[in-house]
Amino acid sequence: VTTTYLRGIGRLVTGSPGGVLSDAAVLISGERIAWVGPDRGDPPSGWPRPDAVVDLGGGLVTPGLVDAHTHPVYAGNRFAELAQRSEGATYEQLAAAGGGIGSTVAATRGAPAAALADDVARRLSQWLRSGTTTVEAKTGYHLTRQGELDAVRLLAGLAGRTGNSDVVRAGGAGAAGAGAAGTGQAGQRRLPRLAVTFLAAHAVPPEFEGRPDDYAAEAARWCPEAAAAGADACDVFCDRGYFTVAQARTVLTAGRAAGLRLRVHADELARTGGALLGAELGAASCDHLLCATEDDARALAAAGVAATLCPGTALSLGRNPPARLLAERGVTLALGTDHNPGTCGLTSMSLVVALAVHGLGLSVGAALAAATAGGARSLGLADRGLVQPGLLADLVLWDADHEGAFAWAYGLAAARVWKGGVEIDG
Ligand SMILES: [Zn+2]
Repeated sequence: VTTTYLRGIGRLVTGSPGGVLSDAAVLISGERIAWVGPDRGDPPSGWPRPDAVVDLGGGLVTPGLVDAHTHPVYAGNRFAELAQRSEGATYEQLAAAGGGIGSTVAATRGAPAAALADDVARRLSQWLRSGTTTVEAKTGYHLTRQGELDAVRLLAGLAGRTGNSDVVRAGGAGAAGAGAAGTGQAGQRRLPRLAVTFLAAHAVPPEFEGRPDDYAAEAARWCPEAAAAGADACDVFCDRGYFTVAQARTVLTAGRAAGLRLRVHADELARTGGALLGAELGAASCDHLLCATEDDARALAAAGVAATLCPGTALSLGRNPPARLLAERGVTLALGTDHNPGTCGLTSMSLVVALAVHGLGLSVGAALAAATAGGARSLGLADRGLVQPGLLADLVLWDADHEGAFAWAYGLAAARVWKGGVEIDG
């Protein structure tokens, strides 16, 4: 087992009751944190001499950030459409002209599997480099049984679940090749840890136009196979113009029966009841919540459902979720980039932390907690999100000496990143 002693940490945001430690040190043993305490120069007594001692020069260290909401499995882009929207075209007009989610579905279905896998791996590597060590990743741009299950397998493969490595060879990801990737070879990419979410109920596909009930019933039938293919969770876009509460309930109860955790795109475009449904079904997280009310906040708190807020896409919709109300009622907050091909290419959770401070009115400490422990909680992962003995050694040294820099930098740079005790190079 390799042990590494990180010393010279000017400020250590632990996320645990210890809070922020000044002049701290962390001992890593294998992939886990073994010890956290004051930096007295030498490693703590009682531990064997570490294999490496690294002086971090008085910098700021936090747990690796957690992005609790992304849509990374897609091909193509919609840049021209975004330009048209900025000039006043409506989503309905663009969708009628062949744009909108339908164009992404067509591009994604048409992409060769290896090319799609390579695109997704290249995309996800950006999160890790910018200090995000865990990413929740959804399917949802195939909208066919085979396509959605293949997307689950692609993500599960990138998560290393079909092999023993988290390093993916360029072009070799996906059902065929991810497990074969070794470590240390040229052309490989370091990826964050992934939580895989099955989102077949993202939109009604063209084959089911006008028959959303039928498509929801189909998506519900696919849940056991999605679980077998490696999905951790099941999600539904429950909102005006997408799926109703009744349709969402059909899919989510099937997902729950298949052993999947539940996540809900809830009350984003209109208050249609997604948050109350998530609370009723014991979802792990309800997301977006731009239109959530006091009643929703109380229901989520009572049911222990986390609220995953996405201030980047809230900005483009011109409305913010009631973050402080949710927090004051006792709801655990998480944050996400909501990276997706149609509206938001964000991959930087440190930028999302700044948006949570300035857009949602959270303190820096609360925003960082939501971007670490809150995200882990929303994903049902108890092994990360804090700097605490026994947890995974996912750590980031930032280009700053105080966490207030997140509110200033709008995208604070990660100087060094450790995933499972292993430093990620450049
Ligand atoms: Zn989403």
